[in-house]
Amino acid sequence: MAHDYPPFEQGRHLLSVSQFSSKNLQSLFDLADAVDPIAKRQAVCTVLDGAMLGSLFFEPSTRTRLSFESAFLRLGGEVTTTTGFTFSSMAKGESIADTSRVVSGYSDVLVVRHPDEGSVAQFAEASTVPVVNAGDGAGEHPSQALLDVYTLDKELASRSKRIDGSHVAIIGDLKYGRTVHSLIKLMSLYSDLHFSLFAPMSMELPDEVRKYAETRGHEVRVADSVIEAVRGVDAVYATRVQRERMTEELATANTQGDLLNWAMLAEADNLDAIIMHPLPRDSRPNSFDLASDVDDLPGLAIFHQTDNGLNIRMAIFLTALGVNIEAVQLTTKQRPWKATLR
Ligand code: ASP
Repeated sequence: MAHDYPPFEQGRHLLSVSQFSSKNLQSLFDLADAVDPIAKRQAVCTVLDGAMLGSLFFEPSTRTRLSFESAFLRLGGEVTTTTGFTFSSMAKGESIADTSRVVSGYSDVLVVRHPDEGSVAQFAEASTVPVVNAGDGAGEHPSQALLDVYTLDKELASRSKRIDGSHVAIIGDLKYGRTVHSLIKLMSLYSDLHFSLFAPMSMELPDEVRKYAETRGHEVRVADSVIEAVRGVDAVYATRVQRERMTEELATANTQGDLLNWAMLAEADNLDAIIMHPLPRDSRPNSFDLASDVDDLPGLAIFHQTDNGLNIRMAIFLTALGVNIEAVQLTTKQRPWKATLR
């Protein structure tokens, strides 16, 4: 659904990738580059001394929650967290508005994940501090798209290529996978892109997202097979079947074996492609996801994405709280310890 949120800057919620233009996207990426020594724990920063993050995850998460929380801690802030409905007052019937008003009274910024589309925007309406959408049902996942585009840019640059003019295959559950909705919209800020899509039946990309890209001048082509989708592309972005958002019958109807594996990339003559995935990868048999036999391929970028997530989430907090890079540098020192194995 299209929303009219203001550009993402100091004191603003981050609810959708539609809050980015090429300009504020580049500023966020510059900030993400600048905090790299802190993200890599080569330096220790206290710029957010005294600041409190309220982390509310009403849906399962490993990476997103831990990387948001680690990002805030890396900047010297503190974190309070609640996970799931069972241990929150929502289990007692408390409304989103009341929960949000209460927790924003304890925090300087909130990060919220919730299973219902549009629910994080409801949190934002009642909050007295900036709210960051960490995934609202099948809606959006803006911080994931930001780290995906940041990673893709770096992976392409290492091959002397750019996002402008690139060819990207997006495959898997494109209907319920919110990361691909945010990704396609955010990538649409670039020029002359070619998307090739492959999704099992009933998991096709929503028309709204497809039109979003097409009306901005990009080509969107639907392929008949994964091999056709990945042939000749610069990068492949795979996403798992979002079983929690559909019946088991639908989840298994057209999903047997692997979504993408080494042999398929070999058949498409594209073993060098950049390979991305928001993770988690469903590694159970017949899960119809990215197989682990691609893990030794040179283009595997899935763990670069997770590492880069820290930089991006630090940059999101710094932007929302109005902290510039000079303030970060003034409060950063070299670490006095080593975190390496002998
Ligand atoms: N971690 C991503 C999300 O929360 C992708 C996934 O769960 O498949 O949307």
